[in-house]
Amino acid sequence: MFTYNNNYYTATMQQTTQRLPLSGKVRADVCIVGAGLAGLSTAWELLSRGKSVVLLEAGRVAWGASGRNGGFVLQGWSEGLSAIERRCGKPTAAALFKLSLEGVDIVRDTIVRHGLPGCATTPGKLSVIRYDDADNLRRLRDKMAKDFDFHLDYLDRHAVRDKLKTDLYFQALRDNHGFHFHPLNYCLGLAGLIERSGGKIHEQSPMVRVERRDAGHRVVTHSGTVDCRDVVYCCGGYGGPEFGPLRRAFLPIATYAVLTERLGSRLAQAVNTTDAVGDNRRASDYYRIVDGDRLLWGGRITTKNLQDEKRLGELLTADILDVYPQLRGVRIEKAWSGLMGYARHKMPHIAPLGTGLWACASFGGHGMNTAPIGGRVIAEAICGETDRYRLFDAYGLEWNGGPLGPAAAQTVYAGLKIMDFFQETRSQRKAASPH
Ligand SMILES: Cc1cc2nc3c(=O)[nH]c(=O)nc-3n(C[C@H](O)[C@H](O)[C@H](O)COP(=O)(O)OP(=O)(O)OC[C@H]3O[C@@H](n4cnc5c(N)ncnc54)[C@H](O)[C@@H]3O)c2cc1C
Repeated sequence: MFTYNNNYYTATMQQTTQRLPLSGKVRADVCIVGAGLAGLSTAWELLSRGKSVVLLEAGRVAWGASGRNGGFVLQGWSEGLSAIERRCGKPTAAALFKLSLEGVDIVRDTIVRHGLPGCATTPGKLSVIRYDDADNLRRLRDKMAKDFDFHLDYLDRHAVRDKLKTDLYFQALRDNHGFHFHPLNYCLGLAGLIERSGGKIHEQSPMVRVERRDAGHRVVTHSGTVDCRDVVYCCGGYGGPEFGPLRRAFLPIATYAVLTERLGSRLAQAVNTTDAVGDNRRASDYYRIVDGDRLLWGGRITTKNLQDEKRLGELLTADILDVYPQLRGVRIEKAWSGLMGYARHKMPHIAPLGTGLWACASFGGHGMNTAPIGGRVIAEAICGETDRYRLFDAYGLEWNGGPLGPAAAQTVYAGLKIMDFFQETRSQRKAASPH
C-alpha cells in the first residue's frame, strides 16, 4: 500500500479521500499517467475544453515531487535563460519565458478563482548572491526588463542584510511576481476540481503498458484497462521502463528538504522576511518561513536517493548553520527527499512521442510553474487549438547516458560545488580586507 511520505506538507494537508484503483474496462478521450502537478494540470485543462479524462496514479495524488517540494512558484525554467537563448535564439527564448510566466499565473488564478483551501500563498522571492557582483546583478536586472519585459528590484548589501542576517550574502534581486505556497494542498484542490467536473482519478493504479489500437490506445494496469484516443505521460522522476524512450531521456535526481522546530523570536535574528529566498549557487540553498516561525529549508542534489531522515537532518542543519551560525542548536522536526526528472538539456519534455502519445514530464527542480503551463500546452495540442508545444522542438529525447548517466551527473555536480566554493572564498576574502 502506498502512503504519503512524512513531511511538512502531509502534516498540514487538507482532508482527502483514498481513490479506488482502476477496475475493469473503461473509456475516455484521454488517459493521463501520473497524478503529480503535471498530470493534474493536464487533466484540468482538458476537462475545461470538454474532453473526458481518466487519470491513473501509481501511488497517491501528488505523493511524489509535487507534494513535497520547496513550494516556490517562479518564472523561468530549470535551464537558465541565457542557455535557452543560445540554443533557440532570442524570439523563442522570449516566447518560452512568457510561457513560464503564464505558468505562474495559472497557479495563482486557479487558487483565487476556485477558492482552493490551505494553499497559503505568500508573495516575493529574493535571489541572493554569495559573492560581490553588484554590476553584473544590475546588468541582469536591466536585461530582464529590456529583453523579457520582466521587472526585478535590485537590493544592495545593506538592504539584503536588513532582511537576512548573514555575512555570506552580498546583493540580491527581488521578484515581486513569484510567490510561495503549499503545493500539496494545491494539488489536492485541483484533484477535487477535476472530479467535480467529471474527471476520474484512480490511485494505486500503475500503468504497466500501453498498447496501440486502431483508433487510439489501450492503457493497461494490473486490474483494468482504459481505451482512449490520446495518452499523456506525466511520470516526473518516478517513471520506470514502462515509459520506454521517455524513461531513457531523463535521470531521476534526488533532492532534500527539512522543517525546523518553531524558532519564535530567534528566527528574526536570522531571517527577517516573508519572501522566499534562494542563492545563486550552482547547487543552491533555498528556504522560506512557514507557520510564522519555522524554516522550511531545501538544498543538495544526489543521484542516489538518501532516505535516512537523521542523516538528512544533519546534512541540511550544517547548510543552515553555514549561513546562519546564530541558529546553532536548531532542531529539525522533519526531513525528506524527493525525485525530480531531469533531461540532459534541463528543459522539460513537452512533445508528441507518437500518434496520440504525449510527454509532459522532466520538469527538474522548477516544476511548479512549468508543469501547469506544460499541461495547458499539451491540452491545446490534443484539442487542435495551438501548436505551442513546437516551442520545445529544440529539446527532444536526448539519451540520459544509461548506466553511466547518474555517475556523470554526480561528478558534474561535485565540480560545480567546487567552483562555487572558490568564487565565494575569493569574495569573502576581498570583503574582509577591502584594501
Ligand atoms: C524536495 C524538492 C524541492 C523542490 N522545490 C521546488 C520548488 O520550490 N519550486 C519548483 O518549481 N519546483 C520544485 N521542485 C520540482 C517540482 O516539485 C517538480 O518539478 C514537479 O513537482 C514535477 O511534477 P510532476 O507531476 O512532473 O512529477 P511528480 O509530482 O513526481 O508526479 C509524477 C507522478 O507519476 C506517478 N507515476 C510514475 N510512474 C507511474 C506509472 N507507471 N503509472 C501511474 N503513475 C505513475 C508517480 O507516482 C507520481 O505521483 C522540487 C522538487 C523536490 C523533490
